[in-house]
Amino acid sequence: MTKVGIFGANGRMGRNLIQATVEDNNALLSAAAVRESSPFLGIDAGLVAGIQEQNIKTSADLDQLAKDTTVWIDFTLPEALELNIKYCVANKLNLVVGVTGLTAEQEQQLVDASQHIAIVYAANFSTGVNLLYKLLEITAKTIGNDCDIEIIEGHHRFKKDAPSGTALALGKVIANTLDRDLDKVAVYGREGDTGERKRETIGFATVRAGDIVGEHTALFADIGERVEITHKASSRLTFAKGAVRAANWLTGKQNGLFDMQDVLGLKEVNL
Ligand code: NAD
Repeated sequence: MTKVGIFGANGRMGRNLIQATVEDNNALLSAAAVRESSPFLGIDAGLVAGIQEQNIKTSADLDQLAKDTTVWIDFTLPEALELNIKYCVANKLNLVVGVTGLTAEQEQQLVDASQHIAIVYAANFSTGVNLLYKLLEITAKTIGNDCDIEIIEGHHRFKKDAPSGTALALGKVIANTLDRDLDKVAVYGREGDTGERKRETIGFATVRAGDIVGEHTALFADIGERVEITHKASSRLTFAKGAVRAANWLTGKQNGLFDMQDVLGLKEVNL
């Protein structure tokens, strides 16, 4: 059994992670961390998630929580992640990271930490989106150089970073497949007299509205036809289930930085 601890247990993702862990046959919820100031401090984790009681009370005392946990899952925010990484390294505990909007320094912190512990870090833990990465490789290889490529994403009104980590990851897959440098070819939104579109650019458009869980479309448009590849998440539970799957997969791993493609075995799939 994987003994799973959840950082930010009262967050939108935190609550889904509690549920996904409880529903997984190979995982056991062992700790639920919240902030000292949280109104959810000291409450049963099951009740925080809106499911039956789990006999695990939320706590802000990480040293106490460390005792019985082998893998932590972090879907908090970048500033919290920095401390959580240090905590996991100090206690030699593996870590699943779903936080998006990381700076280059924060990503480097993950790389450095992965010399000491095993980490799965992914901008999107849904199986469908990870399959999408593979479909984009095929599409980019086949028609990418003949098409205008745009990525359109939509999320709920509370999301803080834009474009989404997943949209950027989709852009990276396409750019790498076409031997382009995403930093040079990405165009983030357009306004005013932009001039004609340059063929090699990859455009990003962001929608923020209501309760959209997460929608991504990669558009490959030529004159006369276009291909649109879309993924729509309708429940956060799909990300949470993927993260718990990653936590189970980390069992027994000593160190290293992995992604969801590793967890799903998609890297071995040849096109
Ligand atoms: P949320 O605001 O509902 O929850 C954030 C949690 O982090 C809360 O529990 C909050 O108390 C905690 N937190 C924030 N700042 C903190 C701090 N300084 N110290 C300690 N705890 C702190 O957000 P959410 O919608 O659950 O999203 C959380 C993150 O997960 C975001 O980065 C989001 O983009 C990402 N996300 C990733 C995926 C994926 O598949 N990788 C899917 C969905 C969301």
